[in-house]
Amino acid sequence: MPSLFELTKEQFVEHLVDEPRFRVDQIWHGVWGELDDVQSITTIPKILRARLSEQFPSSLRVVEDVQSDHGTTRKWVFALHDGSTIETVLMGYRDRVTVCVSSQAGCAMGCTFCATGQAGFTRQLSVGEILEQVIFAARAARPRRLTNVVFMGMGEPLANYPVTVGAVRRLHEYLGLSARHLTVSTVGVAPAIERLAREGLAITLALSLHAANDETRNELIPLNRRYPLSRLREACEVWNSTTSRRLSLEWALIDGVNDTDKAVEELADFAYPLHAHVNLIPLNPTPGFLVRGSSSHRVNEFRDALVRAGVNVTVRNTRGRSIDAACGQLANVTNAKRRSLPVRSI
Ligand code: SF4
Repeated sequence: MPSLFELTKEQFVEHLVDEPRFRVDQIWHGVWGELDDVQSITTIPKILRARLSEQFPSSLRVVEDVQSDHGTTRKWVFALHDGSTIETVLMGYRDRVTVCVSSQAGCAMGCTFCATGQAGFTRQLSVGEILEQVIFAARAARPRRLTNVVFMGMGEPLANYPVTVGAVRRLHEYLGLSARHLTVSTVGVAPAIERLAREGLAITLALSLHAANDETRNELIPLNRRYPLSRLREACEVWNSTTSRRLSLEWALIDGVNDTDKAVEELADFAYPLHAHVNLIPLNPTPGFLVRGSSSHRVNEFRDALVRAGVNVTVRNTRGRSIDAACGQLANVTNAKRRSLPVRSI
């Protein structure tokens, strides 16, 4: 049985065709506006609550719930109806509350620095499974209001394209989140970037670049062999010319691999003409990956060199490292534990 979050409003209205319209609106407002589960919407008859709860069970079962950063970062491992597991991370900052959602159970992209990639692909998530992660986190964040959703958890969102776009639209329409506060990340599915640019969504696109020469990028992100940097640059140009949103480039700094002076030049050559904003992320430890993140001293030097080259740059504050919830670590405690991970190095 699907969860209620699989349904569009029109489908929900159709499902409750025997109920008065005001009743349907009450429930819809309770679920999306007040973040209530159906059982707590006391303005509707008990019998209807019971019926809806039975018809639309939750699609997420909490397997693990861990916290770090003095309780401001929280990670859940959820089991889905078929036993697949996914992970969701909630991060509270001074000025915003962000949830990082998974778009696939596992991932087929095989990026060498990423625990999810090392553990392999299980299946695509549905729109409802993505939306329910957001709702779950928004409820947990109360009394603070969830402000941002980033599609940076397990999976490559643009490899689950219609579902990702469907979820983005509904987060905007039903949950009232500003499109500017919705970020879709990709490791570079070039045709999907161009398609996304034409959707008319004012969202943020975060391209996980990590290397700006094909040789290194091929090693880090196997998809680069299919869509090399020249093709990716074309897709970014389409993004820039079609949307009003500035492109973000993600760069996980790996000691001796992509934190060299040459890497600064290559990154600046890629980012500057695209007017892109660069987010530097000190690499998080991942089992099976025999390199380490750059030192904080080198991170600062790298940032300063980019600034001198005229590139907009921020060093991202890494959250959740101690609970394997930081970038590239998801699946450490679930899928990865159950497999013997290949040891890969670059
Ligand atoms: S970095 Fe993203 S795309 Fe690459 S393997 Fe990990 S989850 Fe998949």
